[in-house]
Amino acid sequence: MILKPSYKFLFFITVLCFSLLGFSQNNRKEKSIVKAVDQHTEKAIALVKKTVNINSGTMNFDGVQEVGQLYKSELDKLGFKTELTKGDTYGRAGHLIATRQGKKGPKFLMIGHLDTVFELDSPFQEYTMLNDSIMKGPGVADMKGGDVIIILAMQALNDAGLLDDMSIEIIMTGDEEKSGDPIALSKKDLIDAAKRADIALGFENGDNNPKTIVVSRRGSTDWQLKVTGNPAHSSQIFTDQIGAGAIYETSRILNEFYGQLAKEKDLTFNPGFIIGGTTLQPDEDGTGGHAFGKTNVVSQETLVRGDLRAVSLEQLIKAKATMKRIVSEHYPKTNAELTFSEGAYPPLTKTEGNVKLLGYYNTVSEDLGFGSVTAVNPRNAGAADISFTSEYVDMAIDGLGLTGGGGDHTISETGNLNTVAIQAKITAVLMYRLVNSKL
Ligand SMILES: [Zn+2]
Repeated sequence: MILKPSYKFLFFITVLCFSLLGFSQNNRKEKSIVKAVDQHTEKAIALVKKTVNINSGTMNFDGVQEVGQLYKSELDKLGFKTELTKGDTYGRAGHLIATRQGKKGPKFLMIGHLDTVFELDSPFQEYTMLNDSIMKGPGVADMKGGDVIIILAMQALNDAGLLDDMSIEIIMTGDEEKSGDPIALSKKDLIDAAKRADIALGFENGDNNPKTIVVSRRGSTDWQLKVTGNPAHSSQIFTDQIGAGAIYETSRILNEFYGQLAKEKDLTFNPGFIIGGTTLQPDEDGTGGHAFGKTNVVSQETLVRGDLRAVSLEQLIKAKATMKRIVSEHYPKTNAELTFSEGAYPPLTKTEGNVKLLGYYNTVSEDLGFGSVTAVNPRNAGAADISFTSEYVDMAIDGLGLTGGGGDHTISETGNLNTVAIQAKITAVLMYRLVNSKL
């Protein structure tokens, strides 16, 4: 007897065949991405070494441009439209901007920076290898390693024939470590790019742990508190005419800041500088000064400077309002004025989109055999350029760069060169899946 297969069963087999075909095609594409990364890794590491040894302290404009030129020529080879801009209008070296238009999928913005905190007078100018994989060098993790990971991921996608589909804008700023002034001009290219993009990927080193990704960063803004009181002989303090004096009013304000806001999760505010007395001569750079005052004179002036770090725009606005309210409630016969600086770094607010993107990243990392990845505690992630994209993109994650070391911003900065290939593989496969809806 011949068994007639049911149509349902045939249909099931057909669907299975097609999906297996699709699966193996994806797998083949992803395998070719991984293979291409491996093929380019040696050259990528050589590029990390070469550029780490070029001083690009933010204020060494020639060095920043030289590093930018090297990365630019790599992106030129991949068919990007590239430009090294001039930063004259905001007093910095300028940025590297590279773009290409594809027809498929979301628009990516990939973020790096060319500058480091190590200026020409730093004793830290060249790399040394601590063992086969750990490199100690100025900017290896923050973030020339991350810049090269971007380039390596692009090379791999190009080799795999996938780059032409994609819309990508890469921006490597020249003043991440010491923003140009005015900040609105310094960050304009980055913000404009964010407005065009759907997904932002930052290649900073995060908390230096390859098992973590940044989904929220705290923003930081500086504040200044100026308080005045009525000067008089100390015996007259607390009278109706003289009141409490500037120093008591200052202590009230700072105490209230502490009492009302110190318990807010992920919010910090640190008064880092204070002078007070009868007359003040603060230094222009804001870090020092001279105060004259006597024990038997009611204080006339104080000056406090501090910072404020918040994890979301909402938290920042709330904290500012609370601080302003506290400042407006004066002790008798005193006055106080609180101002927030213009050059603020906004927070990278933790959004549903960011968490979703971390989920995709985690899946790719697991699929490629690199294990699972979780979110960094925002208290361990400082302000960075990606925060400027927060308002404009649907999804953003940072910390995709060279990790596995530590000591950023010090002469002991290290990074693990083995993370270059790993991070580039995850990045390139993630982008491929996002563009082809393979998530
Ligand atoms: Zn950085």
